[in-house]
Amino acid sequence: MKKNDIVTVTVTDLTTEGEGIGKAGAFPLFIKDTMPGDTVRAVVTKLKKNYGYGKALEILEASGDRVPMRCPLARRCGGCQIEEMDYKAQLRFKTRKVQNNLARIGGFSAVLTDPEVQAGSGSDTDTVPVFPCIGMETPWHYRNKAQVPFGRNKQGELVCGFYAGRSHDIIESEDCLLTPPEYGHILRVVKQWMRDFGIEPYQEESRKGLVRHVLLRKGFHTGEILVCLILNGRRLNHADALETRLKAEIAGFKTLSLNINEKPGNTILGPETRQIYGPGYIEDTLSGVRFRISPQSFYQVNPVQTEILYGKALEFAGLTGEETVWDLYCGIGTISLFLAEKARKVYGVEIVPQAIEDARENARLNGFDNTEFFVGKAEEVLPAWYEEHPEEKIDIITVDPPRKGCDEKCLETIGLMQPERVVYVSCDSATLARDLKILTGYGYQVEKVQPVDQFCQTVEVETVALLSKLQRVKHHINVRFDLEEADLTAAETKATYDEIRNWIQENYGFHVTNLNIAKTKKKCGCTLRENHNLPKSENSKSPGTTKEKEEAILAALRYFKMI
Ligand code: SAH
Repeated sequence: MKKNDIVTVTVTDLTTEGEGIGKAGAFPLFIKDTMPGDTVRAVVTKLKKNYGYGKALEILEASGDRVPMRCPLARRCGGCQIEEMDYKAQLRFKTRKVQNNLARIGGFSAVLTDPEVQAGSGSDTDTVPVFPCIGMETPWHYRNKAQVPFGRNKQGELVCGFYAGRSHDIIESEDCLLTPPEYGHILRVVKQWMRDFGIEPYQEESRKGLVRHVLLRKGFHTGEILVCLILNGRRLNHADALETRLKAEIAGFKTLSLNINEKPGNTILGPETRQIYGPGYIEDTLSGVRFRISPQSFYQVNPVQTEILYGKALEFAGLTGEETVWDLYCGIGTISLFLAEKARKVYGVEIVPQAIEDARENARLNGFDNTEFFVGKAEEVLPAWYEEHPEEKIDIITVDPPRKGCDEKCLETIGLMQPERVVYVSCDSATLARDLKILTGYGYQVEKVQPVDQFCQTVEVETVALLSKLQRVKHHINVRFDLEEADLTAAETKATYDEIRNWIQENYGFHVTNLNIAKTKKKCGCTLRENHNLPKSENSKSPGTTKEKEEAILAALRYFKMI
């Protein structure tokens, strides 16, 4: 086979990125915009040793899952990769994608399971029940957020729309089928205002021009709309005229902000945001909880499905009102506040300071006084907190990390803290599978996995997984135990962390931390608290536990007859 050969291919499978896979003779080809059941005439565009890429020229026989294209730009705009696939087939594809990643990356046997049956994970801890992906009734106009690039096309005309797949050429598009219909109207108002007042769009090559992107957000329950212009500069003339026009033309227009981003590159938002009109944020409600949303804050883009997703997370958490919970990667506190209604205490941590301000404000707005939020990296804040509070029992930990998943240090700390359940919300099932595998190494089993379709028409899928502390013993080892050697009274003795620390201070003259003690106790098999499962990884040595400290702690443990 050579490049530019014309071949006939029957597509039999899909990649996780939504490309069709079929064979030309015995040679596998990846062909964009095709799906299983299609037979296409394709041109070979690229060849590797064992596979190649093709472009469909003609559909000779259409898959039963193929539906007419609704958006004329679908193939050029990189956004909706599987728009021509029937929605039910999209959901099947997403369920399979999650199953495949759990199997391929996590090494689990991921079994499609009817949620009504709710079978446990059976006798084999590697078997994970995956429920069918929950879809939307109307999988269009579901996004509450758009970040629309502005520029000039080859003819020099002012355009806004979307970047073409894998490039920065802007395809003119004001009316996207995924965003609220009024967004097109807002973009036309902004464009007209730019033309009327000679305001230039940003040009990537020359780094000249002012308006880079327009960020739009809408509260689906409140109807409030936020408009934020992202500028390559600090000054915006005629902002009052834009404000007047938006007020006059856009129902629900609530606030206008400017964000300053003078750096080249792909990052959309810069560090500084200024209010021009209104409060600088909008509000929305999710399942009755009110949220304040600023331009920088992360807020799930599909509010209808978010209620379902976080509803599942809450259900998986199984709260009774008595629990203490950590919500890692908490953003503006969405999951935290869902949990706060049903838990005794909720701690949240998030890296973006503005989001934590919003989280605190959201807790206040909703009258929750049982939440506490921390700014910082989950992998730093959680271990430090645990070091300070080694005896405080944490019942549930929820995590909702970005695509790259959880930091290892964060997973290790979860393993040390041994909550009853971990609820993992993920936007990338590949890193989810990796992290679930790691958590099973700390004595957890994956009870169930529920994919939820937050991003209809695209290949992305959101997933919520429940892990619980492993109850079943899979293997056991026979040990001979001579009662005469055992000092049963000593085994009952327990010194507190304070006593151990003070004893070391007196006898060795240095300070050890609670985490030092906890880790050394764990190392020699002392239970930290009842039912504490030991992490299986042996490399969990605290960086602060020097040989000297460890020996002092061991001496103290011997002195108090704990070992
Ligand atoms: N649960 C939240 C946000 C989930 S998105 C919600 O539903 O709204 C992931 C969040 O993790 C983002 O807000 C991002 O800012 C934050 N984040 C990224 N890296 C982090 C880290 N290392 N530690 C804590 N938060 C982080």
